[in-house]
Amino acid sequence: MAGYDYDLFVIGGGSGGVRAARVAASVGKRVAIAEEYRFGGTCVIRGCVPKKLYVYASQFPEHFADAAGYGWTVPGASFDWPTLVANKDKEIARLEAIYKKNVEGVGGETFHSRAVLVDPHCVYLVAEDRTVSADQILIATGGRPAPHPALAGHEHCIFSNEAFDLKELPKAIMIEGGGYIAVEFANIFHGLGVETTLVYRGKEILSRFDMDLRRSLHETMEKKGITILTHSISEWVGKNPQGRLDVLLSSGKTLTVDQVMLAIGRIPNTENMGLEGVGVELGKTGAIVVDEFSRTNIDNIWAIGDVTHRVQLTPVAIHEAMCFIETAFKGNPTAVDHDTIATAVFSQPEIGTVGLSEDEAAKRFPEIEIYRASFRPMRHTLSGRDEKMLMKLIVDAASRKVLGAHILGPDAGEMAQLLGIPLKAGLTKHDFDRTMAVHPTAAEELVTMYKPTYRVKNGERV
Ligand SMILES: Cc1cc2nc3c(=O)[nH]c(=O)nc-3n(C[C@H](O)[C@H](O)[C@H](O)COP(=O)(O)OP(=O)(O)OC[C@H]3O[C@@H](n4cnc5c(N)ncnc54)[C@H](O)[C@@H]3O)c2cc1C
Repeated sequence: MAGYDYDLFVIGGGSGGVRAARVAASVGKRVAIAEEYRFGGTCVIRGCVPKKLYVYASQFPEHFADAAGYGWTVPGASFDWPTLVANKDKEIARLEAIYKKNVEGVGGETFHSRAVLVDPHCVYLVAEDRTVSADQILIATGGRPAPHPALAGHEHCIFSNEAFDLKELPKAIMIEGGGYIAVEFANIFHGLGVETTLVYRGKEILSRFDMDLRRSLHETMEKKGITILTHSISEWVGKNPQGRLDVLLSSGKTLTVDQVMLAIGRIPNTENMGLEGVGVELGKTGAIVVDEFSRTNIDNIWAIGDVTHRVQLTPVAIHEAMCFIETAFKGNPTAVDHDTIATAVFSQPEIGTVGLSEDEAAKRFPEIEIYRASFRPMRHTLSGRDEKMLMKLIVDAASRKVLGAHILGPDAGEMAQLLGIPLKAGLTKHDFDRTMAVHPTAAEELVTMYKPTYRVKNGERV
């Protein structure tokens, strides 16, 4: 080990890479990390963090409108996009510096450079024009928006990366995609006053989430004024004489907008990194293939986070980093646990969810009980906002274990985090029933749904 420059070299300074570098350095390993763009990676620079800040920004018009029912008069409010972008930039610059400092503060070395594998123990640092060696190498290079070269006029389109930093707020936008990024941005732009159309090829937005929530969110978004066109794709995008974009859809309809944002998936960053030359196995989508300990087919090369295309979420990349440290440096082989991950969609209203959807549970269990409540949350009584909250528990009838919990409504993401604990612990509906409610809250509904709304037996609703 002493023959190498480092015990660990990490490629990629995002959520997973920075965590691994920091923790390895803090236990006395000689660590270096290379980041080609900005420390903090997707989550901090152009993902979760700026996204959530923009979600907050986009919610103010509803807060202003709701205030009237509570006796407030809000004088004509106005919004300035450049101020939001500049304030967001300040915040992510602050976080970026913290990420870098956290590694350096425990003795890790940081490089602002692209890194390319030369052999199983050597990495070439492009910006420094030199090669360094390490006993263990961790690849945490994340992913990027999937391009759409087959779309005529795709060069006129933007991705989530660019959407954060547009010079001016568009008057109208078309967003293509039905995943959480597309849905969240549709709500953000709509909230900021942009005429928004979401175009999705599938039959319902947010596949893999509970169908009840998907439908309810779809309806609510439409009620707010977002146009959602399902079973639809764009076929051609072109600039018109007014400098706007015309989009021809598969339905034959033409939209005229100022921006077209593509959110049709993300692909792993594995190109031109020397992986093939070194013999690191890649899967069909170009993702790095790893075992349950995040080890590649090459003994001393590991990969974590989005580049492995397992579950593309920040806390998952961080968990994978911690398991890697246990396995590689603490003599405690720890397999990554991807089971029962609580997650949120920061749509408006928000989704918070953990465990199996009704359809998924019905496929896996002979009989399930569904506890479902749809109600107007108290905050919408005086505001007069016609928006319902939906809560759903999916329970295995045989064991009474709670298999899934799904919420649509204000603060659903916060609730999902807490629901992740009982579901991960495998608690039963009985445990929910004997838990005292917190009153008056919306969440109390989760422990006061005593009778199943319906059951699903062998896939049939009864
Ligand atoms: C718009 C958007 C919103 C999101 N919202 C959420 C959310 O609300 N909650 C959530 O949990 N997740 C969210 N995510 C997903 C989350 O950001 C990712 O899952 C997470 O950042 C993955 O971390 P990572 O360490 O694998 O990769 P990344 O954070 O992508 O970091 C990889 C880093 O490697 C660098 N790099 C790549 N190649 C090289 C190279 N050869 N040499 C040097 N450096 C290199 C890149 O520049 C990048 O900084 C969102 C993503 C997007 C795009």
